[in-house]
Amino acid sequence: MSASYANDKRFPGGLRTGDQYIGGLKNDGRRVFIDGEEVADVTGHPAFREAVRSIADLYDIASDPANRELMTFPSPATGEPVNRIWQVPRSEADLHARRAAIARWSEATFGLMGRSPDHVAGFFVGWASAPEVFARNGAAERADNFMRFFEFLRDRDIFITYTIVPPQIDRSKPMHQQNPADLYAGVVDERDDGVVIRGAQMLGTGTALSDYVCLSQVSPVRPGDENHAINVAIACNAPGVKIYSRRSYAAAASSTFDYPLASRFDETDALVVFDDVLVPWEQVFVYKDIEICRDQWWDTGAHTMGNHQAQIRLCTKLQFLMGLAKRIAEMNGVDSIPAVQTLLGDMASYAAMIEGLVEAQIATCTTNANGIVVPGRQALYAAMALQVDVYPRILNLMRELCGGGVIQLPSSARDFENPEIRADIDRYTHSPGYSGEERVKLMKLAWDLIGSEFAGRHDQYEKFYAGAPFVVKSRMYQAYNFDKSRDLVDAALAGYDLSGRRRK
Ligand SMILES: Cc1cc2nc3c(=O)[nH]c(=O)nc-3n(C[C@H](O)[C@H](O)[C@H](O)COP(=O)(O)OP(=O)(O)OC[C@H]3O[C@@H](n4cnc5c(N)ncnc54)[C@H](O)[C@@H]3O)c2cc1C
Repeated sequence: MSASYANDKRFPGGLRTGDQYIGGLKNDGRRVFIDGEEVADVTGHPAFREAVRSIADLYDIASDPANRELMTFPSPATGEPVNRIWQVPRSEADLHARRAAIARWSEATFGLMGRSPDHVAGFFVGWASAPEVFARNGAAERADNFMRFFEFLRDRDIFITYTIVPPQIDRSKPMHQQNPADLYAGVVDERDDGVVIRGAQMLGTGTALSDYVCLSQVSPVRPGDENHAINVAIACNAPGVKIYSRRSYAAAASSTFDYPLASRFDETDALVVFDDVLVPWEQVFVYKDIEICRDQWWDTGAHTMGNHQAQIRLCTKLQFLMGLAKRIAEMNGVDSIPAVQTLLGDMASYAAMIEGLVEAQIATCTTNANGIVVPGRQALYAAMALQVDVYPRILNLMRELCGGGVIQLPSSARDFENPEIRADIDRYTHSPGYSGEERVKLMKLAWDLIGSEFAGRHDQYEKFYAGAPFVVKSRMYQAYNFDKSRDLVDAALAGYDLSGRRRK
């Protein structure tokens, strides 16, 4: 019989500090693999420790008494301050408060950690806006399970991530027709004390750094796929969970000076394997129900709230990119050239557009039957659909601006230790107002954002994190209000006839 999550001593309750978060992860028994080896302790391993530290910094910001108003709200259950990422918004003002807290966190990582704890928290808040969806088809106890677990996440300040897409393998076949049928994560056994999960999910960003992982499906689940039509929460250290990390950009970074972003914000992505993992019933929210598995995304605020957080983070990232672009133009002495200002203006128009769409998501929020407010869907999906093209476009403009300056750089920080090399760097790699070291520092920062392996992964992330581009754009198609457009076309057609006469 497995112990209830409520008794987990690693999470005593209330706001957690960074050290408490790290303490919870340390040697907790999770199985993480990289470079052919099992990691003994993610908090000390070079592939993970700096990302753990960056997440710990977020917890320190949220638990700092000086940030109480910005970062917390009173728990409806305990009255104690809890992290605002868990606040279920009841007004437009609540959405603004959530946005401010999320923006504060994203500024600490320059928008470079997509799966910081506020991302999946957004999905859980969205589910909590309409828990009755989990109760459909006579499953009342699942809605209770969900709300109890949601309160646990909120009141104990838990970091949860998700794996909601199966590995590619063979996309021409539904989940249950993969060969063998237990390749994609799903239920293989049912016991008195829970369900047994076997199979894999494509990518769990941040799973090596999280306390829990939510396993569900956002991809279409078809008749026959019932074993995969689930939503369950699994502790990352549960027996049978195996986290296979991709190559670490942090471990590969020669120094923080050379790779200032990769070395600190590599949140890691991993193939997550569930090798006969027992999930207690109290952690099961959707069970073998294709309808609820689908409706949980669209009949609740989950998809909207979760992706609204992602857009707030993206705003910060684009502001950061703009700041770098302006600084580089100034340093190179080209910022007063009209063509360069046009380029910067072009970049800025995209950044401002995404910012405006985040504002619009809040301004067009709607209130559901439970009195919970959710961001406007049309503005959200417009931002998501545009992001797919806008992010690479901005990177391209940034490359254009930087020219060879991001390539003509010392091989590593160690070049500065050699007096002969340093003298030539200082002589030939400086700009007015910038020493050789300052110029190199700025250009290496830019390269890590637009050209390094870490940067390439970010380009892929912004294109795919919320689904393939064709999926994201079809959501925009569904969210757009075509009624008004149709009326306008009807009015235009009704305004004249074959004779060309104008009609009233
Ligand atoms: C950096 C990164 C981090 C991620 N982190 C997470 C995570 O934390 N959790 C998680 O659950 N998932 C994560 N993902 C996975 C992400 O959700 C998927 O990449 C996304 O849903 C798309 O699925 P796919 O990669 O299998 O692409 P596919 O669905 O295989 O699509 C790939 C391409 O194939 C073509 N294609 C396929 N099917 C069609 C079709 N029917 N019509 C037209 N064209 C088609 C399109 O060109 C499409 O772009 C992450 C992905 C990346 C890149």
